[in-house]
Parts: sequence; C-alpha cells; structure tokens
Amino acid sequence: MKVAIAGAGIAGGYLAGLLEQRGISPDVYDGMDHATACRCRSCGWGVPISIKKYLADVGLDLDEYLIEPMSPMNFDGLVATTPLCTVDKPRLLRDLTRAAGLKRENLGPEKAEDYDVVVDATGIARAFLPPCRSDLTLPTLQHRVAVKSTGSERLGAGMYGNRISGPGYLWAFPVGNKHYHIGIWGIGTIRHDSLLEQFYRDSSDRFSFTLHCSCRGSIRVASPHYSTPFYSRRTREDGTQQVVIGVGESIGTVSPFTGEGIVYSLECARILADSWPDIEKYAHTVLARFAWMKKERETLDYLFSPKSRNGPRLRDRWRFYRNARRSGIRLPLTEAFKQMGSLSRWVDGPEE
Ligand SMILES: Cc1cc2nc3c(=O)[nH]c(=O)nc-3n(C[C@H](O)[C@H](O)[C@H](O)COP(=O)(O)OP(=O)(O)OC[C@H]3O[C@@H](n4cnc5c(N)ncnc54)[C@H](O)[C@@H]3O)c2cc1C
Repeated sequence: MKVAIAGAGIAGGYLAGLLEQRGISPDVYDGMDHATACRCRSCGWGVPISIKKYLADVGLDLDEYLIEPMSPMNFDGLVATTPLCTVDKPRLLRDLTRAAGLKRENLGPEKAEDYDVVVDATGIARAFLPPCRSDLTLPTLQHRVAVKSTGSERLGAGMYGNRISGPGYLWAFPVGNKHYHIGIWGIGTIRHDSLLEQFYRDSSDRFSFTLHCSCRGSIRVASPHYSTPFYSRRTREDGTQQVVIGVGESIGTVSPFTGEGIVYSLECARILADSWPDIEKYAHTVLARFAWMKKERETLDYLFSPKSRNGPRLRDRWRFYRNARRSGIRLPLTEAFKQMGSLSRWVDGPEE
C-alpha cells in the first residue's frame, strides 16, 4: 500500500514517525512555502508541558526544544500558574521528518494519483478533502519583537482578552534572547496592526519594542464536529480505490477558544496511527475525544450572533472555565468567569 502524507507540519510530521514505527513508510511532501522569516507556518510556539509524552513516543526529548516556561502568565491582569512553555517549533518540525525524509515540494493532484492513501495534513489549506461542513477560520497577525526593559521589570508571558472587543485575544510569548511573539486574533478584529501598536504604546513607559518580523495567518476554529468529512474515497482512472484521510488542523483539532492546535494535532495523529487502517474507528474516536471543541465552537457562534448582546450565558462562562482547567491554568472559578479572555468585556456589558 502506497501512502503519502501531504503536509509536514506538526500533525503530518508526527504521523510519519508513528507510521514508520508500525512498519509503514509514507512519502512526506511539503513545499514549506510560508511567507515567514522562520520558514514555517505562523505560530506562537506555545505548548503545554504535556507535549513531552508525545515527543517521547517518537524518540524526541522536550528539553531539546524547550525555550522558556510560561508560568506565571498574566490573564488580563490576573496572574496564574500554567503548565505552558514555548518550544523551538521550526527545529521540532525538522526533526520530526528527519527519519522519514521530506520531499520539499507540495503534493499536487497528479502525483497524488500514485498513492492508495493520501493523508491530508495540509492544515488550513485542507488541500485534498472536500470543504468542511461548516468552516470557521479566524485571521491573525503576529510580530516577533525584541523587548528591552526601561527599568528592571521583565515582560512576562500574557494573554489579554480585554484588548479587543468580541472573542479573541492578544498574546505575548517569550521565544528566547529577549524576543517575543506578540500576536492577535479574533473575528471582527480587523484593526490587527493598530491593536498591536496600541499595546506597544501602552507599555512604552516600561519597555521598548523592536520589530524583527511580522506574519499573517488564519486558524481553523471550526472544531472537528463541524470539519467533517474526515475522509473520502474515490475510484482512480485505473479502477482502483484511493482514500484521503484528514489529520490535525485540516479537520479542526484546534481549541476554538484559544487557537491552541499543536498538542491536539499531535493527539489526532496518534489516534490515526493507533486506528490505522480503520478510518471509521479513527473518525469516531476523534469526534469523541474532541467533543468539547464542538461546544466551544457553539459558544463562538453564539458570541458572534446578535443574540449575544445579552452577554455570555452561564454555559459559555462554564465552558471558558473548563477550557482553562483543561489547559492546567489555575484560575479561580469566579475570576475565570470575569477575567478570562474577552469575556471580561462582555461581563461588563458588550461594546456598542
Ligand atoms: C498566528 C498563529 C499562532 C498560533 N499559536 C499557537 C500556539 O502558540 N500554540 C498552539 O498550540 N497552536 C498555535 N496555533 C495553531 C497551530 O499552529 C496549528 O493548529 C498547528 O500547527 C496545526 O498543525 P498541522 O500540522 O495540522 O497544520 P500546519 O502546521 O498548518 O501544517 C500544514 C502543512 O501543510 C503544508 N501544505 C499545504 N498544502 C500542501 C500540499 N498541497 N502538499 C504538501 N504540503 C502542503 C503547509 O506548508 C504546512 O507546512 C497558532 C496559529 C496561528 C495562525
């Protein structure tokens, strides 16, 4: 059976390693034609420490990629402990595909004909699967900046929902050598540039910021439930069957509230490897494992609807609190309800 993986991001690269261990040698394709200075897809590089166990499964050691722990972290002024850290993602991506060998070109429809199974690990592009049943993607803007303190204070890691109206947030993640990823995402947040500029201006009495690079991107926050189908079958010209299977962000394994997709894409790839070649079992397991993402997506849909003028419902606030707990962020219940993300704005009454 000939297997191709289209996309050597987190999901495709990790899946290649897991399949190799099971005696399947896929061909891995990725043109890596990203318009970013780091040559990989725009990303904050923030992950929970729990990524360690996924990396260990393919013989990689988190310590080799760890840049900085992000505990404590500032959430709109509330400082909480978290199990989050930043990792050197470009290096991790290189090492994930080192054994499999990477074909530095995108997989096109013609070449794809040669394969019995094509894994669509193309992230936001979803290049091989039919469209999602109900897609939702959010635009992002991220800067890499050098931060110099005007005094002795150090800029801590932070996520600030109160800087934008409506769902979304601004993040500041340290990525080593006093450099930070400072980015923003959210629907309706069309003034990305000016919101980041505002953040720099507001912090200018304590820090100076030098821009190194800037990238735009999108995150699929549709949730797996709304990103079906996960697979499709077709008959090739010679009469044989071909199966296309999606993995990672191509099928929405991203937290709709936070845009966190690295560890969930690893988990999704692991489910696929464990279920291989039973794709019905795979689809069923993904839907069950990430059922909470469907609920978060439904909260987003509500918050973007005119009905949300009354503010978030109790269930929306509960989902936010659950999201923080799931990520190991120790926010007290009432504070989470009030402060977490941009819900703080809505608790006080939505903006006109
Ligand atoms: C600005 C921003 C910040 C983010 N920050 C974080 C964060 O801090 N933490 C976190 O957990 N998540 C974050 N995310 C989300 C996270 O980056 C993704 O969810 C995760 O990388 C998804 O991995 P993936 O492998 O499924 O897809 P991707 O990483 O997008 O990889 C897909 C790959 O497919 C390739 N490709 C596309 N078409 C083809 C083709 N035809 N043939 C071959 N290859 C192809 C692309 O070049 C790409 O390398 C962020 C996203 C954005 C946009």
